[in-house]
Amino acid sequence: MMERTLLRGSSLTLLVLSAFSALPGSAEAQAEEPLLTRAERTEWRETTRYDEVMDLVRQMVAGRPDMHLTTMGYTFEGRPIPLVVVGRVADGSPEAVRSSEKTRVYLQGGIHAGEIAGKEALLILLREMAQGMHSQWADSLVLLVAPLYNADGNERVSLLNRPRQNGPVGGMGQRPNAQDLDLNRDHLKLDAPESRALAKMFKEYDPHVAVDLHTTNGTRHGYHLTYAPPLHPATPAAVDALLRDRLLPAITQAVREKHGWEMYHFGDVRPARGDAEAGWYTFDHRGRYSNNYAGLRNRFGILGEAFAYATFEERTRISYWFVEEIVRFTHGHATEIARASAGADGQSLVGESLAVRSAFRGSSEPVTILMGEVAEELNPYSGRMMLRRTDVVAPQRMREFVSFQATETERVPPAYFLPAALGDLRIRLESHGVRTLVLEEARTQEVEEFVVDSVTTSGREYQGHFEQDVTGAYRTVTRTLEAGTVVIPMDQPLARVVFTLLEPRSDDGFAAWGFLSGSLRAGEPYPVLRGSPGSPPRLSLPPVPAGS
Ligand SMILES: [Zn+2]
Repeated sequence: MMERTLLRGSSLTLLVLSAFSALPGSAEAQAEEPLLTRAERTEWRETTRYDEVMDLVRQMVAGRPDMHLTTMGYTFEGRPIPLVVVGRVADGSPEAVRSSEKTRVYLQGGIHAGEIAGKEALLILLREMAQGMHSQWADSLVLLVAPLYNADGNERVSLLNRPRQNGPVGGMGQRPNAQDLDLNRDHLKLDAPESRALAKMFKEYDPHVAVDLHTTNGTRHGYHLTYAPPLHPATPAAVDALLRDRLLPAITQAVREKHGWEMYHFGDVRPARGDAEAGWYTFDHRGRYSNNYAGLRNRFGILGEAFAYATFEERTRISYWFVEEIVRFTHGHATEIARASAGADGQSLVGESLAVRSAFRGSSEPVTILMGEVAEELNPYSGRMMLRRTDVVAPQRMREFVSFQATETERVPPAYFLPAALGDLRIRLESHGVRTLVLEEARTQEVEEFVVDSVTTSGREYQGHFEQDVTGAYRTVTRTLEAGTVVIPMDQPLARVVFTLLEPRSDDGFAAWGFLSGSLRAGEPYPVLRGSPGSPPRLSLPPVPAGS
């Protein structure tokens, strides 16, 4: 049906309407003024603004008992971040969603607000669900849809943002939030209100699958969309295997068969340099990125990057199909996915070795990568040249580097001890949902203490921080832990997040971000200690307000 419609469609608007809603029931909806996005209304010259997103989702959920509009938190400028809950739940609250015992899928658009095809695709998906399509998904799933995450960035439209991207020619929002922070570097350190809102959403709604939609920045490859599972080597093996070996190949094949477009692991072609050989390289394993963060939470994080030089309409379409196939696969494997997450949550990591530093792992054999070509195309409104993909596809053989391996590991301790003076770090840990306890009275015990050998501080500020690299070694000593010391037991589901944030050598921890710069000196101990949480534990939870 799809192909026939595409061939027949002569006007862009008609093409779009039929591409996304050519199913029973939609004709009637179209006749009575469908809930079109600004992109559709302007023939893809413009992108949907925050107020329009809010108007659309309000209209979509009106009168639908299976769709609930709520807010996951606030942007820096105080805009409520919309979250649409779709499924057989009484309301949009975390309690209602979690008590449904369905598998939960979080879909996010617009974290980088110049990369906005995901926002348009999710609005179209929501509209279809409001029209009664995809109703079978509710059998096993609840969808949590956040079409516009970086709402402040979305409103800073300029025709000069992302000038080489193929539209929207009427401009698009900016990459960072209103504080000039890149939200896709903030998932662990949580400097931005948007990141704290997202961590709160993870903590309260606890999605099993989390999809984050972007647009590429560089390589002229032959794919319409590239993707990445969690890349950190500490990702639970069950999550890694299900995504890499099954979900991603299945959705790639489905999109190829139904629509004829190619998708593959995200990458850039890098020339040989020093010890590193030429090949297809993905980006970064660290937990600051959304997909990697979800993996460290034992969840199925998936990054999608629509190709920047496909048209805005094509990018929206491939983002839509990508999401549609992920949800379809998850619907068919809902119990297995929920069980894999729960299995990783229940498995203690104490005594195991996890990566604190990592490097690319190359494939054993060369693979075929589809390279492409682009042509210049004028944006008549900005007067600048954009790029447009052509249909040239040039297969090339090369090794790929789409996963990571540990280059340095550390053993997971039974617990960490955080001095009371580092209360800000406790708040950041708890914002992720980490369980902490407070020592009621002082006690003396054997602990592991990391003695610092050297501290190197970056000369350049990055994301509001001067990054640091700490070397040193653990030694076993007897120390008195003062009353008020925060104890973080590691037999908890977020052990990977805690380990990554608190290990001194971790490449994405508090020390790496410079949070501990005031207390790190050569020859002196790192302020966070490790050891047994105590048995019987003389611990108490912080006081709970009466009636809660
Ligand atoms: Zn991006």
